[in-house]
Amino acid sequence: MIAFKKKIFGVTWTHKFPKSHPNLEPDDDSNAGYQGTTTYPTCEIIISGKMTEGRQELTLLHEHIHIVSFENSLNLKEKDVKCLTAGLFAIGYRMTNK
Ligand SMILES: [Zn+2]
Repeated sequence: MIAFKKKIFGVTWTHKFPKSHPNLEPDDDSNAGYQGTTTYPTCEIIISGKMTEGRQELTLLHEHIHIVSFENSLNLKEKDVKCLTAGLFAIGYRMTNK
């Protein structure tokens, strides 16, 4: 995917897909498949550009769920975010850059 900006809860977030980024590496097995990170207050979502496009979409959804949790004080745990990500992706949710 190529970089784009998108408003989430009224805030513009920059979405980037670099081949490498210090916040993405090294990774461990607990985060397998989710090579992404969300940074405050710069409002950047960094997704590893080394993954397939499908894996990038999955990871983007994962990071968006973290933002929804944070912005609504849901305090979702990592396992909750992973379950929601897998469930929404399985029923067809896909991210667009529009
Ligand atoms: Zn996560």
